[in-house]
Order: sequence, then C-alpha cells, then structure tokens
Amino acid sequence: MKKVAIIGAGALGIVSAIMLKDNFKVTLIEKNNKLGKKILASGNGKCNFTNISDKKGKYNNDFALDIVNYFDSQKTLEFFSNLGLVYKIDEENRVYPLSESSQTVLDVLKKNLNGVRILLDSRVNRIVVNENDIEVFYKDVIESFDYVICASGSLASNLGSEYAYSYLKSLNINITDLNSGLSSLVLKENVSSLNGIRCKCLVNLYKDDIHVYKEYGEVLFKEDGIGGIVILNVSSIINREKGNYKISLDLSYGACNYSSNNDLIGMVHPKIKDYMIANNLNDITNLNFIVTSTSKHENAQVICGGVKIEELNNNLSWKKDNRIYLGGELIDCDGLCGGYNLQFAFSCAKVISDSIKKINQ
Ligand SMILES: Cc1cc2nc3c(=O)[nH]c(=O)nc-3n(C[C@H](O)[C@H](O)[C@H](O)COP(=O)(O)OP(=O)(O)OC[C@H]3O[C@@H](n4cnc5c(N)ncnc54)[C@H](O)[C@@H]3O)c2cc1C
Repeated sequence: MKKVAIIGAGALGIVSAIMLKDNFKVTLIEKNNKLGKKILASGNGKCNFTNISDKKGKYNNDFALDIVNYFDSQKTLEFFSNLGLVYKIDEENRVYPLSESSQTVLDVLKKNLNGVRILLDSRVNRIVVNENDIEVFYKDVIESFDYVICASGSLASNLGSEYAYSYLKSLNINITDLNSGLSSLVLKENVSSLNGIRCKCLVNLYKDDIHVYKEYGEVLFKEDGIGGIVILNVSSIINREKGNYKISLDLSYGACNYSSNNDLIGMVHPKIKDYMIANNLNDITNLNFIVTSTSKHENAQVICGGVKIEELNNNLSWKKDNRIYLGGELIDCDGLCGGYNLQFAFSCAKVISDSIKKINQ
C-alpha cells in the first residue's frame, strides 16, 4: 500500500484521512495535542459546517468555486449523514449539527478514523522531495511517504500560527500577502461611546467612493470599531482589493413609517442619538465611518491569502511535483461567513482524495 502523509488534523486533514484510509496507509500529523481544535471553535461552538445556498459570489476566486462545485453542500450532507451526523438547516440556509455542538461533528469524524495512524504533538518543519519518495521532517523524525497533503490551515485566530506555512519554505512555494478575513473592522471615528450597542441595519461598503457591496445584518459596536457577521463578510471583501474603504449604515432599513423629518430621539438607540448629535449628524440612512484596518490575525476567523493558486493544478496538486497536494485555508481561497469555509475544506478533501485514488487505480 502507498503511504500518504497528511500535515494538519483540521477539517481538510481529517476528512481526507477518512476518504483515503481504505486504499492507502494514511498518517495524520498534527502539531497540537488534539485533533480538530478549529472545528470545535467554529460557529461559536455550534459548527456551521456548510450552507445550502448558491455558492456564486461567496468565495474570493473562481478556483475556489470550482472546487466547491465538484463536492457541493449536498454531497457534504450525504457524507456526514453516512458518518451518522444528524443535522438541521436554519432560515439562512446554514447547516448545523442537530445537537448544536461542534463536538458532535468532531466525534463522528474521529469515530471514522479507524485505521489511520495519528501523530499528535508533531509539528512538521520541513519537506524534501526526492525522485522516489517525499521526506517529511517532524519532531526529530524523518519519514518517507509517496504522497503528502498539506492541510495545515492558516494564521487565523489564536488557533492558527506561522507554522502553517513555515515548512513550505523548504519547497520554495509562493505565498501571497496574508490579511485578516472575517474579522471586525477598526474605524477612524471614535465610537467608544457606542461600545456594546447592536443594531440591525443595511451596511453599504464603498471603495474609493464607489459602492461595492451591501448586506443587511446586525452590527455590533466595539471600543475601536465594529463587528458582527455582516461586518465579518465586509472585512473579507475589503481584503480582496487595496483601496480607501468607507462603511455607510442605513439604520432606517426595515422601518415601517420612517421619515427624514422624524426626531432622532424616536428612531435610534439613545447612545447612537447622542453620538450623532455630538458629531453633528442627522441622517440615519447614511451613517458613515472610515475603515482604518481589519483586526489582527489572532482575532480573524480566516486569512485572506495563502499559497498562490498559480502554484496549483485544478486537482490541488503542486505544479512542480504532483505528489504534493495543498488545500483548505492554507491556500489563497476564502469564503464568506455562513459555513462556506468548512465546506471549502471538505471539498478540497474530496478533490485531493479522488485525485490520489485515480492515479493509483
Ligand atoms: C473562531 C472560528 C470560528 C469559525 N467558524 C466557522 C463556521 O462556523 N463555519 C465555517 O465554515 N468556517 C468557520 N471558521 C473557519 C473554518 O474553521 C476554517 O476555514 C477551517 O477549519 C479550515 O480548515 P483547514 O483544515 O484548512 O485548517 P485548520 O482547521 O486550521 O487545520 C489545520 C491543522 O494543521 C495543524 N498544523 C498547522 N501547522 C502544522 C505543522 N507545521 N505541522 C503539523 N500540524 C500543523 C493545526 O494545528 C491545525 O490543527 C471558523 C474559524 C474560526 C477561527
């Protein structure tokens, strides 16, 4: 049996291992002392593991969309149903385990890892490509494999780290700039008096004064900026192209009897009223803020950027040596909030495992 090393036991690594274990000798190499820590943290501990909406416009590039279309949310639901996971779908097409616990998702995955060799506390720090094998260096061990799947995630959140990418330096693989995606935004204006206020509104995003995105949702004011799911999505849009970004909140959205003649006192949260009066603002349809930056990597849910897609074939193998595969958050593909990132990781697992199986038929 051919030997496959999978670097990283996150969504991509674990699902690839399950998909390959019957045909290959699979070793899952994880730097942490546990598998799937990010799965556990996902969806506020509830794990929004896919979304049944149309995926067009949900990813930063068509490369990601093609991967997801190969193994879409329907196939993902079949896969998880076969593993024994019972799920439910909310009004925004987000799919969660019925238990509303990410531990359930991880448990059904772990239950199906029988036959896979799992190495914990084993950080990979180097890969060397030879004619007849690929050497993987972890801890003080050098081990030889036929295929390597790089599934080491990204810098995002306090669960991510630069180790996700550092071992790729031994292969000279090109990586883009790395920016925080799905993160809150730091604003130029002093909004500290609004800290903790939530308001449902239409969020409009302008790049260099041109309207580029809008989404309705709940905005959460913070000490130095704004957050909330809608803002997480806006942050990923901002990171796709450099520019001067402005956010405009339409607080009148959804009102039944709004008129610009109404007094602020009857329309907005008292603290927003005070903020607007203090700043000589009176238009609740157009409350503007200048975006200074997205928040730090450790506060982001994903990273915008990663291994350049020009390095990859459509089946996610590396162009310079097709025995090495790269996918998931490690590569320059990211999705909006709502289950699209885990879906991408699962779709990568299917693309990669089908490719390795096909070569070895
Ligand atoms: C707080 C939070 C909430 C989220 N919620 C959702 C959600 O609800 N829905 C959704 O779709 N997405 C969500 N995401 C994003 C989603 O979790 C990720 O996109 C997805 O888990 C990426 O999977 P991956 O397998 O590519 O990487 P990861 O899950 O990050 O797995 C990579 C693994 O590789 C290991 N590793 C790294 N470097 C090395 C090394 N050198 N050697 C060995 N091992 C290494 C890491 O420890 C890690 O276990 C969330 C992210 C965060 C941070």
